[in-house]
Order: sequence, then structure tokens, then C-alpha cells
Amino acid sequence: MKTDIDIAQAADVWPIEKIAQQAGLTSDEWEPYGRDKAKIQLHDLTKQQKLGKLILVTSINPTPAGEGKSTVTVGLADALVSQKHKTMVALREPSLGPVMGLKGGATGGGYSQVVPMADINMHFTGDFHALTSAHNTLAALIDNSLYQGNPLNLDPRRMLWKRALDVNDRALRHITIGLGGPTSGVPREDGFDITVASELMAILTLSKDLEDMKDRISRIVVGYNYDKEPVTVADLGFAGAITTLLKDAIKPNLVQTLAHTPALIHGGPFANIAQGTNSILATKSALHLADFVVTEAGFGADLGGEKFLDFKVPLLGKVPDTIVIVATVRALKMHGGEDKKNLSTPNIEALQKGLANLGRHLKSMQRYGVPVVVAINQFTADTDEELNMVKTYAAKFDVPAYIADVWGLGGDGAQELATGVVSAADEAKNYQPLYQPDDDVLVKIEHIVHDIYGGQGVELSDKATKQLQTFKKYGWDKLPVIMAKTQYSLSDNPNKIGAPESFNIHIREFIPKLGAGFLVALTGSVLTMPGLPKHPAALDIDIDNENHIIGLN
Ligand code: ADP
Repeated sequence: MKTDIDIAQAADVWPIEKIAQQAGLTSDEWEPYGRDKAKIQLHDLTKQQKLGKLILVTSINPTPAGEGKSTVTVGLADALVSQKHKTMVALREPSLGPVMGLKGGATGGGYSQVVPMADINMHFTGDFHALTSAHNTLAALIDNSLYQGNPLNLDPRRMLWKRALDVNDRALRHITIGLGGPTSGVPREDGFDITVASELMAILTLSKDLEDMKDRISRIVVGYNYDKEPVTVADLGFAGAITTLLKDAIKPNLVQTLAHTPALIHGGPFANIAQGTNSILATKSALHLADFVVTEAGFGADLGGEKFLDFKVPLLGKVPDTIVIVATVRALKMHGGEDKKNLSTPNIEALQKGLANLGRHLKSMQRYGVPVVVAINQFTADTDEELNMVKTYAAKFDVPAYIADVWGLGGDGAQELATGVVSAADEAKNYQPLYQPDDDVLVKIEHIVHDIYGGQGVELSDKATKQLQTFKKYGWDKLPVIMAKTQYSLSDNPNKIGAPESFNIHIREFIPKLGAGFLVALTGSVLTMPGLPKHPAALDIDIDNENHIIGLN
């Protein structure tokens, strides 16, 4: 059987010029980055009035069985193109840490992929390297300020700005820096986050333009002074330099699917400690260029979906026209208690039980007043009986469900899904946000916990309670909330799969991200620097003298 990388390497990849033309870009709106990649910059995005329809792809709670959101996103876009709709894909850039770790790449799979697959999964156009450099330059400038007489009275014990690296390296989570005597800096505790968890990543994906990016970078709180007052990048005076380092990273990247559908791939914030979707600039550019834009929200509907609908929509100025919830028979069986090694065997009881997870997401997404459809991402071992059970279950919620074999057939495998999505996107919608912008942080969290997670209440640690009192003083108490919760469960306990009942969400700490414009609520034990598994993907990846790669998926 051909692997993802086999299929991608055998693909007929068109020169990027042809894709740019097909997307409707004029010659001054794009610049080539090699033969098959480009950066784009649409001028005056605000002045162009036309906006295409936006299709948001999200999923049930992820399981180790895999759901295939990116695969469905790409396959659906290719199917829409084959039905003569001018369509673009808007996706995140993969993070290198997980590519070498447990998750592998993030360019889709089988015959629904974006290419050049290996480039996109590894160094691409250098955006993440630029972000990493910008992040660590700011870190070095902060420590230099501490060393050079500390004019801002920064308290080295209360620093928020850490170092960043796009590598899964658990050994760097907690470190001590500044050792080596008086000429080597001020000793203090520090640590590394993975680059996609950097606030600069969230900022890159939220900024309207370079000026907006500079304003946001100025507002970053890097730590507190000895009077416990916040110190920002504006106080330090480095916003201009850091923005300059990101002058190219801010431009969306243009590539293509295996079927030559134009795809904008840009930015990669996590869907737990940030908003989990590609850049606003990429989505907006695509909406101006195409009649349909298919985009993806990370993890499940409870994380990426909620953040898209409550946080991104007001900034984007566009409500999705249809929400597609991806589910697989295999993942639903896992939610019903089946073991990963038995997923290829039919198990109607486990599926029946696991469907409750899909039900929760259908209900929570329906409450936004946007049409919802289910895409059943078909795996070869799924039986007709199992597939039909998912359809019948969704029908109880008045939601159409379509079987899609995008992995095996590309766009040809998503014809019914595409027709269903087009007709759902034509339906009237009545978008209802979950909360009002001036609701208090705690009220916002309560809405998310009750209406999206199906939970009972919110419990704050002593630290989180104290933080909320302090945040009121700083005027941060009405900021949007980004919930950092495990993706595996609707609760904050990754082991409570399926549709857990009567649970509370425990907030252990808030992290202010004033540049991005939100407060992160850390629940459970969410990590901002992942580790590598016992058998990392890196063990299987290899390359020969002809540049032929194996083991990347
Ligand atoms: P997500 O976006 O939900 O993380 P991806 O689309 O990246 O998931 O898919 C994860 C992996 O699962 C990829 O390696 C892909 O090839 C594989 N995959 C997706 N759908 C299928 C399918 N229907 N059959 C077999 N493998 C699949």
C-alpha cells in the first residue's frame, strides 16, 4: 500500500505560477518561493467587498485512531472544484516537533493532500524559523535589559516570556539561565515552549497588517516588575525590531492540493493554548479570491470549533456558512470503550455507545445557528452497517451525514459531501455567539463549560482566583478566553472519553496574552512543550541520494 509520502512524491506538482493564475492573483500579488511555493500579499483587503462562502471543518474529540480533519478539508475542496465551484483551502502550517514525534505531518493523507508535502511538513517557507528567531531575540533583549542595570525594575522571579523552539524537547521545559558569573547575565529560572505555543504565533495569525502586528507585539506582557505591575514590549521598546523580523512570515503561503486546488497554508497556533486556526490574513485572502473556502479548526469542535466561532469570527468579520464535523467509525468505537488494536473488527455496541460523543458536538455546534453536516471519513475496515448507524444517529439531530472516501479517492470520494455542503451553505443562518464581549471572564468560561463541554461547573484554584482579582485592577477581566484543555475529552481529564456527565472544569492558572488579546485558562495538565514518545516518528524517516523520502506521514 502506498504511504502518504509515496503518493505526494509521485504527484504531478504544477509550477506555482499556474496555481497563482488559477487563484486569480495578479502578478504583483504573489512572489515565488522556489518552483512550487509562493508568498502572497493582497493589497487593500478591506476595500474588496466580495466574500466567498466559508466552510469550517472540525471534529469529534480526537482519539489515537485518528479522525482526518485535514484529509477531509482537502478532499472536500477538491470535490467542490470538480463541481465547478471556485474553491480554496486555508490550513495551518505543521509544527516540526509533532512531525518528528507522535502525530506526524499535517498535510492531509492518501489522495487528499497538499503538496510539496515534505517541504510543508518541515521547513516550508521559513515562517516558523522566523518566529522562533523573533521569539528568542525578544527573550535575549529582555535578559539584556536585566543585565544592563534593569531600568524597568523587572522581577526575574516573575517573568512570563520564555524561550521557544519548534522541537518536542521535554528536557527544556524548566531550565536555569544566566549561570557563569557576573559577565554571563542574571541567573533566573526559565523554560522553553514549542514555537507554535509562542504568543508571537497567535499574533502572526491574528494581525491584519504589519502595523497591527507591531501594536499587538507592543502589548505583550513579558513579566512583572518588583511592584507587581505588568511590563510590556512597549516599555522595553523592541516592537519595531521584532515586527521587522516577521516581515515575510506575515505573508500567507500558496501551494496546491494533489488535484491542483490552490491552498493557503499559514501560521500554526495550537488549538488549546491559542485559537487553533490558520491566519486571518490567509482566510480573508481566500474569501476574497474564491467562492468557497474550506478551512479547519484544530482538535475537536469543543476546542478549535468553539474558538473559531467565539473568538475568530468577530476578528475575521465572517461567520462560517456551514460547519462540517468529521467523525470516523473507528474513533467513535474508541469513544465507546473499544481498544485501539480491535478497531478493524465490527463492534456495534461500542459504536452505539461512542456516538454520544458526536451527539454532544452536534448539539454544541447547532447552538451557534449555523448549518451543520457530518462527514464520515471512511476507513477500509468500516462496514455498511456501522457507516449507516452514524448516518441514522445524525439524522436524529436533523443533521445530514455523508460518507466520504477522500483518503482513497480524493475529491471523487466526497461528491455527495460537497453537494450537501453547498446546499447547507445556502440555508439561512442565525449566528448566536456564546457570550457577549463585555461578560466577565468567569461568565464566559461558564458558558463554554455548560453549553459546549456539557459540564456542570467551574472550579478555580487559589492562584486563578487571586489572578482574576489582579486582572480586574489591570482592566483584563473582560478579555476573550482561550481554554487550554485536553483535546481527548470534553472534560479536563483525558481519560473521560465518550460523553462524560456531571463534571467540573478545574482552572489552575491564567496566562495573560495581551498582544494576542486573550487570557489563556490552563486546565488539567496541558503542556506548552510536548515530549517525544518511546517510538518517535523520527525513527522511521529516511532519505536517499535521489532525495527520496520514506516514513513521513
Ligand atoms: P487531523 O487533521 O484530524 O489531525 P489528518 O487529516 O492529518 O487528521 O490525518 C491523520 C492521518 O490519518 C494521516 O496520516 C492520514 O493519512 C490518515 N488518514 C486520514 N483519513 C484516513 C482514512 N480514511 N483511511 C486511512 N488513513 C487515513
